[in-house]
Amino acid sequence: MLLTFEQALAIVKEKLSEACPNPAAEILPLSQVQGRVLAEDIAADRDYPPFDRSTRDGYAVRSADLRFVPATLECLGEVRAGEHFGSAVGAGQCVQIMTGAPLPAGADAVVMVEYVRSESSRPEVTRAVGPFENVVRQGSETAMGSVVLRRGQRLGASEIGLLASVGRAQVRVFRQPRVAILPTGDEIVPFDQPPGPFQIRNSNAVTLAAQVAAAGGIPRQFGIARDDKEALRRLIQEGLESDLLLLSGGVSVGKYDFVGQVLGEMGGEFFVQGVAMRPGKPLVFGCLQQRFFFGLPGNPVSTYVTFALFVRPAIGMLGGAEFEPPVFLRARLGKPHRRKLGLTMFVPARVETRDREPVVNVVEWQGSGDLVGVAAANCFLVVHPDQMDLAAGEWVDVLPKGQ
Ligand code: AMP
Ligand code: MG
Repeated sequence: MLLTFEQALAIVKEKLSEACPNPAAEILPLSQVQGRVLAEDIAADRDYPPFDRSTRDGYAVRSADLRFVPATLECLGEVRAGEHFGSAVGAGQCVQIMTGAPLPAGADAVVMVEYVRSESSRPEVTRAVGPFENVVRQGSETAMGSVVLRRGQRLGASEIGLLASVGRAQVRVFRQPRVAILPTGDEIVPFDQPPGPFQIRNSNAVTLAAQVAAAGGIPRQFGIARDDKEALRRLIQEGLESDLLLLSGGVSVGKYDFVGQVLGEMGGEFFVQGVAMRPGKPLVFGCLQQRFFFGLPGNPVSTYVTFALFVRPAIGMLGGAEFEPPVFLRARLGKPHRRKLGLTMFVPARVETRDREPVVNVVEWQGSGDLVGVAAANCFLVVHPDQMDLAAGEWVDVLPKGQ
């Protein structure tokens, strides 16, 4: 029996979490950690913010002085970001303050400059403020010593910014897994050579290499395997030197689809052999010589989709990251869509915002060999096996293409 898409994904997660020893780590400067996975917890080196910080340009005041407005206050001077006001604000007094500056002692709020009538030494305030309005309290974002980023977290732009703000110029990250990419097929030729009339350029290997790199792995290419058991065996053995082996093509039920057979003969253990989904039904996942392998169906869209759903999270876990499953978002269906019974379908589609709502429509495509259709799409419409014919306006799942 075929596994459902959810069951197959759960197996990938389970097998990788059981087997994954922590990968080796290395220390890198912040300029080199984009997309990498943290190998250490990061603690705040001081309170954030480090002082009660004004979020506005305006006047630091005692909120109790503004119970009745307009109120005229005595201005003692100014405090700029990076400075500190030397004396305390007393009853009826205020200090002009800039965004990012520390709140002077005695003051407990900031009035925005827009609500102050004159900038003389006796400004008139026209609006009341509550205690600590327009102020972020010291330590309210995080207290000194608290963990702000965890081991296993992936570093994107905002995380790298946070590392910089807590004073980490270099951090310990996990080494990236090496991912061997092995395309198979007698008809497949290198993409930079002219193909014969019935030959097909090897597009899968470059697609997969780009996907591997985006998933945080290091792609390794080492040729194209013929549909020949001996050739396959030799190249599979070479691929097992990497941390993960991806094969494309040759996993279906055709007379020359030898990939499953050869992996089995070499002692491979299979955890997934077929998934109730389209494209991607013949997917295999297993383990051989203590390395995981995926046999991805060769049709370019099948390869692309099965990578996004199953291989990307697997590469993450091999690289020490938390399990990062594909996330489906919701959109309204533009035109009605017929489904195929019993399978999870991933249909190239475009989602656009209309009247403040996401609306998705499938693009024209000729099935799982059609990269032209996928290039015109920005997502996949996900149709679950239990969904009846989908009507226009229904909320449906979509898988954004970037994942
Ligand atoms: P297979 O899974 O081997 O039966 O291949 C299915 C379809 O995908 C066939 O039409 C192949 O020509 C095509 N295909 C297989 N491998 C590749 C590849 N590396 N690049 C482009 N197309 C491929
Ligand atoms: Mg083939």
